[in-house]
Amino acid sequence: MAPERTLSIIKPDATRRNLTGEILSRFEKAGLRVVAQKRLLLSRPQAEAFYAVHRQRPFFAGLVNFMTSGPVVIQVLEGEGAISKNREVMGATDPQKAAPGTIRRDFAENIEANSVHGSDGPDTAAEEIRFFFSTMEITG
Ligand code: GDP
Repeated sequence: MAPERTLSIIKPDATRRNLTGEILSRFEKAGLRVVAQKRLLLSRPQAEAFYAVHRQRPFFAGLVNFMTSGPVVIQVLEGEGAISKNREVMGATDPQKAAPGTIRRDFAENIEANSVHGSDGPDTAAEEIRFFFSTMEITG
């Protein structure tokens, strides 16, 4: 099976609490490799474009405010079954429903400030990686 790539974001609630290293270590221990990474403050248009699928949801405005409230650390993770493995390590969207030992169960503040984002399928992974990284910035 060919290695897969997924887009991961360490969200502002986690960077604010200095949890970047701890979260990256969870990925690496799960066999995922960081093949690209950048830290940046998302602009409002960038956050709105990234979460465009949620534009009609009641939490959209709050989500954009939150995602632009501090720096994020964005990475491309690579590994066998990287997309589902990353989602397993992250846990459910709502930390109260996330399994013990997952990032969201251990670190998320609430359903919105839930510490991490991970692509939910091959098509979104490809699209989200392209959104933040050029081919030259990814080194497997
Ligand atoms: P994910 O794939 O697990 O990140 O979940 P979704 O794609 O459904 O939602 C994207 C992001 O929107 C989540 O990670 C949360 O930060 C936020 N979110 C999702 N559902 C809710 C909700 O019901 N309320 C609030 N306030 N935020 C939510």
